[in-house]
Order: sequence, then C-alpha cells, then structure tokens
Amino acid sequence: MSPDDLKALVRTVPDFPAQGVQFRDITTLIAHGEGFAAAVEHLAGWAQAAGAEAVAGMEARGFIFGAAVAVRLGVGFVPIRKRGKLPVATIGIDYALEYGSDRLEMDPDAIAPGRNVVVIDDLIATGGTALAAVELLRKAGARVDHALFAIDLHDLGGANRLRAAGVAVEALMD
Ligand code: IMP
Repeated sequence: MSPDDLKALVRTVPDFPAQGVQFRDITTLIAHGEGFAAAVEHLAGWAQAAGAEAVAGMEARGFIFGAAVAVRLGVGFVPIRKRGKLPVATIGIDYALEYGSDRLEMDPDAIAPGRNVVVIDDLIATGGTALAAVELLRKAGARVDHALFAIDLHDLGGANRLRAAGVAVEALMD
C-alpha cells in the first residue's frame, strides 16, 4: 500500500479532545488488516536499517505500532508508561504540555546500557512526548538516535526538535 493509501485510512475527528482540534485517529488504520500490516512493515524496515536492538513505544498508541515492529524484528519492547502504572521502582521525566505538565516513566532495568533503542509512536505533534521519551531512555543508558511515527504533524515542528536533539526522524505520512 502506498503512503497515500495509508493516509486515506486515518480518520480525522473534529473538535477532539477540545474545540477546534482536528484529531488524527489511527483506529481506522489499524482496523484495516492490510493497512496495519503495511504500516508495520514500513516502520520495521526503518527500524532495521537503524540497527534497532530494542524498540520503545509510548503508552498507549505507541504500544500498538512499537510492539508489532519489535515482534517483526525479533527484538525486545520497552514500554514507556504514563505516571504511576508500573509496579516497580521507576525512573521518570516530567515534560511540559500546552496546559500543565505530564510525566513518563519506565523500568530502569528494561534496557541494557548502550543498547540501540528506536522510539515509535503513532503521531508526533510538538515533539514534547517523543523528546521526553528519548531523554528518559538516555537516562536509562540507552543509545537513542532514531524515532519513527505513523503521522508527523510537521507544521508543529516536533521532528525538527527531535533532530536538534540528535534523533533522526521518519514518518509514514504528513
Ligand atoms: P506531542 O507531544 O505534542 O508531539 O504530541 C504527541 C503525543 O500526543 C503522541 O503520544 C500522540 O499519541 C498524541 N497526539 C497528539 N495529537 C494527536 C492526534 O491528533 N491524534 C492522535 N494522537 C495525538
């Protein structure tokens, strides 16, 4: 399937989660067997070319693509969780949102030091979430220099913020 075919499978929901926001919803993409498989295949190709030794995905939609890519490559998956979800002592990072702040956490033993970890999420907007995930993984000792997304809302500049932090960015669609 071409990038345009995949794009056609993404649903746009107006006024979610707030008035005036156009939410890009991948539910319809992953419900389409051929489309989901093609998206995972593209992402897995990039992850393999990046030499991924593990894949990290952000809760929750990053788990869907990230875990599928990890299985495809036969490497481990590192869940980057929202606050308070993990049953063990965690390391975490606070990051700014448009209004307020949030926190990502991970199990520090989830990744061996020096491992090449590729970050995967469904969508990059301002890049705040992905940048926090990269910083957290680096704090855990991982090497992170590639991040992959199904969708890049490129007008919001997230990909450039990641590149400035030394992370190469690929996305299936703008
Ligand atoms: P950022 O931190 O501003 O780059 O926002 C990206 C994070 O918010 C990702 O974890 C996305 O899953 C989520 N997100 C932001 N906007 C959308 C959207 O339009 N559709 C789906 N997820 C979104």
